Amino acid sequence: MNALPSHLELVRGVVLPKPVGAHPVLDFVNTRSEWTSRASARTEWLTSYEAFLIWSAYVGLQPSGLIDRLIEQADPVEGPRLLRTTLDFRGELYDVLTGAPGNAFEPVARLIEKASGRRRLVQSGDGTSWELPEDLVLPLHHLAVLAGELLTGASREYIRTCPSCGWLFLDQRGRRRWCSMATCGNRAKARAHAARVR
Ligand SMILES: [Zn+2]
Repeated sequence: MNALPSHLELVRGVVLPKPVGAHPVLDFVNTRSEWTSRASARTEWLTSYEAFLIWSAYVGLQPSGLIDRLIEQADPVEGPRLLRTTLDFRGELYDVLTGAPGNAFEPVARLIEKASGRRRLVQSGDGTSWELPEDLVLPLHHLAVLAGELLTGASREYIRTCPSCGWLFLDQRGRRRWCSMATCGNRAKARAHAARVR
């Protein structure tokens, strides 16, 4: 059996990167291997909408029972269509979060508005919460709502970009440089060491 690198995990038959972003929306944009180029990633972890559904349960955004029901509902037309929407949103959201020049804001804002508009305020027990209708698009729309909260909230100023791979993470204490010491941090240390002994 081949062991996976320590930054990856096999979840329900799908290989996923372990969360390092300290925020689920940032971990969502970190589901491709690097953002140093806008071209297709060397490694794409969201290879199907089902993989995205499994990811959303893995990072704790959705209960796994819901994901089981949605995977059963997924059909061969709707799944690939939603995957394209998800990956487009991910790329545009990355540009908005990093302040890249371009026209990413409009499509990002429209999806966040659409998702927010589908929420219902419901009362359960002694609590009140926002709920989205249970359908295949729920996990994407839930993520879009969270992206809207991140964009308008106080944490936004703590979003940092890994100088090696372009992944995003929150750095509230101002002490993180790399997305992860296990990957980019170690590579940088090894490079610095090689430069010293040369
Ligand atoms: Zn990195």
